[in-house]
Amino acid sequence: MNEVLLKVENLKTYFFMKRTIVKAVDGVSFELRRGEVLGLVGESGCGKSATALSIMRLIPHPGRIVDGHIYFKGRDLLALSEKEMRGIRGKEIGMIFQDPHNSLDPVYTVGWQLSEAIMLHAPKKMDKKSILRKVVDILGKVGIPTPEDRHRDYPHQFSGGQKQRIMIGMSISNVPDLIIADEPTTALDVTVQAQIIDLMKQLKEEYNVSIILITHNLGLVAEMCDKVAIMYAGKIVEIGGVEEVFYEPLHPYTKLLLKSIPRVDIDMPRLEHIPGSVEGAYEIEEGCRFYPRCPMAMDKCRDTLVRAYSKGDHIVYCHLYEGGEG
Ligand code: SF4
Repeated sequence: MNEVLLKVENLKTYFFMKRTIVKAVDGVSFELRRGEVLGLVGESGCGKSATALSIMRLIPHPGRIVDGHIYFKGRDLLALSEKEMRGIRGKEIGMIFQDPHNSLDPVYTVGWQLSEAIMLHAPKKMDKKSILRKVVDILGKVGIPTPEDRHRDYPHQFSGGQKQRIMIGMSISNVPDLIIADEPTTALDVTVQAQIIDLMKQLKEEYNVSIILITHNLGLVAEMCDKVAIMYAGKIVEIGGVEEVFYEPLHPYTKLLLKSIPRVDIDMPRLEHIPGSVEGAYEIEEGCRFYPRCPMAMDKCRDTLVRAYSKGDHIVYCHLYEGGEG
């Protein structure tokens, strides 16, 4: 089995608002091995992006990481100086954001922007020719046609799909160990989405890079990921291998999520919806945050701390599984 590349332990990231504290990430733990792809899934506002930004140590004010550890290649990222972190971001950990239209600077050519990313982390000074060679090579690798000409073009001269390809190129320019892709296909057309997914799969094979894929698209998870973590209101409620979680879901929230999307592999008479909203769930301190919406809720779910129950690598946080039953 491959080595553990990333180990997140009891991570807590809170946002200190004027009147309240939003516990956006509240005790999140998981592991990612080299070459593995983890899907981080959940409704909007459940803490997926806050978890990713915490790993990059890019949480904006008024947010703050208040507790936990993030071990990357054995080093706790939370113990590093800002200068040390700058050496890791973009080099050892790459990030792909949701909206490629706003991720590139409109006043510089894409070649210039790529060369900046390359030079920032180059082990030694590179001459202009080698940088250009590398820029053209990366653009070609991510499927930009005639890269030897197009590196001179500006972002507005590329389509949305091409811009996302360039962003992916930027994230792999220094051959990182980990890529965090935050909804990388959401802003793109369906046909372009499929091309981007193919590209990411191909690069994963080529570089054996680990990926955290943040998405609310369960189809994407089924296609790309080895394991999946389901998040709800700042907490992971279920985590395990994709097949186990999809075919034998344990948590009531996961079950409802799976029933709310159309599937062709099983007979589905009708799609379900999850009643209520995540609003107010963050205020629940001791009990289960899914309690107000859970069709299986019991009295103790309201105020009793939920523990982890595991079946091998498949872990669920729910009182239904206390003592192994459920
Ligand atoms: Fe539902 Fe209780 Fe399980 Fe929460 S702990 S998901 S409320 S059964």
